[in-house]
Amino acid sequence: MREVTHFINGERVSGTSGRFGDIFDPNSGQVQGKVALATRGEVEKAVAAAKAALPEWSATNPQRRARVMFNFKRLVEENMDELAELLSSEHGKVISDSKGDVQRGLDVVEFACGVPHLLKGEYTEGAGPGIDVYSMRQPLGVTAGITPFNFPAMIPCWMFAVSIACGNTFVLKPSERDPSVPLRLCELMMEAGAPAGVLNMVNGDKEAVDAILQHPDIKGVSFVGSSDIAQYVYTEGGKHGKRVQAMGGAKNHGIIMPDADMDQVVKDIVGAAYGSAGERCMALPVAVPVGQKTADTFVEAMMDAAQSLRVGVSTDMDAHYGPVVSKAHRERIESYIQMGVDEGADLKLDGRGFQLQGHEDGYFIGPSLFDNVKPSMKSYQDEIFGPVLQVVRAESLEEAARLPSEHQYGNGVAIFTRSGMAAREFASKVNVGMVGINVPIPVPVSYHTFGGWKRSAFGDVNQHGPEGVRFWTKIKTVTQRWPDGDIGDQSFIIPTMQ
Ligand code: NAD
Repeated sequence: MREVTHFINGERVSGTSGRFGDIFDPNSGQVQGKVALATRGEVEKAVAAAKAALPEWSATNPQRRARVMFNFKRLVEENMDELAELLSSEHGKVISDSKGDVQRGLDVVEFACGVPHLLKGEYTEGAGPGIDVYSMRQPLGVTAGITPFNFPAMIPCWMFAVSIACGNTFVLKPSERDPSVPLRLCELMMEAGAPAGVLNMVNGDKEAVDAILQHPDIKGVSFVGSSDIAQYVYTEGGKHGKRVQAMGGAKNHGIIMPDADMDQVVKDIVGAAYGSAGERCMALPVAVPVGQKTADTFVEAMMDAAQSLRVGVSTDMDAHYGPVVSKAHRERIESYIQMGVDEGADLKLDGRGFQLQGHEDGYFIGPSLFDNVKPSMKSYQDEIFGPVLQVVRAESLEEAARLPSEHQYGNGVAIFTRSGMAAREFASKVNVGMVGINVPIPVPVSYHTFGGWKRSAFGDVNQHGPEGVRFWTKIKTVTQRWPDGDIGDQSFIIPTMQ
């Protein structure tokens, strides 16, 4: 049985805990490998390797660090097909979507190639008589990232590429469900010229996460996953004196105005709701048509669009989406569909019980569509994270906009309209972190920044872009003067620069 190991100080290291997790192939439902679950001692070894590598790496000039990122980008591109196949085999998303996952990670690596520009500090000449003030951004030290299953290439890159380019060293704890791509990324970083110990990886569960959160040598932790765990990581990491950013779950709404181009809306929402089997934190699982006519037209067109989707194995080039990640997750999604029915929503399309011929044990689930979902329903309030679209009808833009604004999650939201004024007003007022205007999945490009609001993110600094550099560095401000001769009397009042 293939074992996915840890990666410490530049090499693969077998687990010693005797505890392993199963790695499934969601297409077949078969166990295809096992992943070592780290003990606290193994996490400590990874941190020690990162700590030993820190002095030299943080003193390496920023441009030379950036060159490692350039090499890494080239190597990932050369290995794109292999990485995408590996990713699909453990996650279940179709290969073209896996390439997108890798590519969105590479976008952040490209951003990291330019980090030297953002590490430059500020300078004021003559802030007082003969006094200059300047600031510098310095690395935090040993840093860590804890990542979810749904973007096993992109999200690790969000974190380690920026952190390492800023001069930190890193310990990655990827999802135990699809750890093979993160392991390959670690190896490719070494091949790209990162010294041993600069990027390490430990596999594991709560035990490994707690060891990271409590380790005194780790100074900054980035987390992406579900909200309850995000909140725990934020609190526990903060309690141990760390800087923490912790991104959580989502329930993104797409508001459809009566003047929207309905053909385009349906094309956009069918991809955003069902793509990657709905396992995206920026998926669009709630549609809010405004007005009865808009709603009736949308539901009818969406029924046709959803029914014509092809669900297939990850390697099926014509499939729109593949299986979900695990049997337990499929059961959870199906239980939410039942909950929606019990709560009185209209189930127009039922994806439960879907079987793919020849792959009867795979974790497939067909597209589901609910109409007349109400904000009071638990199936609306919770994140389902599957191929289930819920339609909540609204009478006005105000009523529609209140839904995402008042929802517990605030990751992304989209509005579809031809009215610039409505869109502008909506973007300004909505209580959500990322907004799309006629864009269904408004994931910002890497040199902007990614982060939701409310229970979608704990902490106040986003991923990547200048915000990411702020997160992974601390600022030091120097006030200097070079007195020439007598500097006058001692002063007992606070300097005022007068
Ligand atoms: P998850 O919360 O189950 O796992 C995330 C990480 O936390 C994994 O590395 C896992 O090993 C670890 N973990 C799990 N249980 C833990 C515990 N009890 N204590 C400590 N650590 C624990 O999330 P997932 O199922 O892998 O990913 C899906 C979730 O991630 C969804 O909620 C999705 O919305 C969210 N997500 C959010 C974003 C975002 O940027 N906001 C992006 C992607 C995914």
